Amino acid sequence: MKKIISIAFAIALSVVQTVQDDGSHQANSNESQKSTTSEVEVAKLKKDPLYPFISKQNKLVERDGTAYIENEANLLILANKDYLMQSTYIPSDLVRPNVEFSFGNADIEKAKMRKAAGDALEAMFKGAKDAGYELYAVSGYRSYSRQEEVYEAEVSAKGKEKAGEAVAVPGTSEHQTGLAMDMSSKSADLALSAAFGETAEGTWAKENAHKYGFILRYPAGKEKITKYEYEAWHFRYVGKEAATIIYKNNWTLEEFFEHVKLLDDKLKKAEKA
Ligand SMILES: [Zn+2]
Repeated sequence: MKKIISIAFAIALSVVQTVQDDGSHQANSNESQKSTTSEVEVAKLKKDPLYPFISKQNKLVERDGTAYIENEANLLILANKDYLMQSTYIPSDLVRPNVEFSFGNADIEKAKMRKAAGDALEAMFKGAKDAGYELYAVSGYRSYSRQEEVYEAEVSAKGKEKAGEAVAVPGTSEHQTGLAMDMSSKSADLALSAAFGETAEGTWAKENAHKYGFILRYPAGKEKITKYEYEAWHFRYVGKEAATIIYKNNWTLEEFFEHVKLLDDKLKKAEKA
């Protein structure tokens, strides 16, 4: 009797064992299936054309409720009214591009751009010339201290509230990056005006800038996103790859980085899974 009980017990145990084995096998196979799925997802996300730009997002530091950009030398920097440049930032690679300037040969700050942007500007102006259009560079780099002078003068003349409408608050001007150039043409009297956008030169610039790495930074119809009025004359260097993506999607730089952030979030989630 004792033996029968112990045999029965052994059978019962082995049944339990088998069930447990099955259970754990099941769990293992689920686990490996799950990790394969997320690996496939990660690999897929890494093929997204925006993937190379995840590392080009702003790195921010907050002081007194204002967000300042830490990685200011980033060629893809997003400087605007929400993300400010620090007063100490001066690009280390400013050059004077070999193009026509509205002010001739004067050796002044606004004739300069960062090297990559300056080289691209030379190529763009040459491309325009080959197509029969003559562009003029009007205003490039502007230091924080110069912007401060211009802003303070405006505050003295119009008061603090009105000053911010026409002149960028120091730290918010994209010209401090050394990656922006205001341009015009003789057909627009070399002025920075919406009229430039209507000229053959302005139209050529808008439709071809991306081939050289530039974007029209403040387009018409995107005022709520950029928080700037339409500026037909203000072009920003971001490199050919990003410029082409932005042009083809009809994005602003703000929208471009919204999409980059979405991809970054998806990737982080897939990598954790
Ligand atoms: Zn400008």
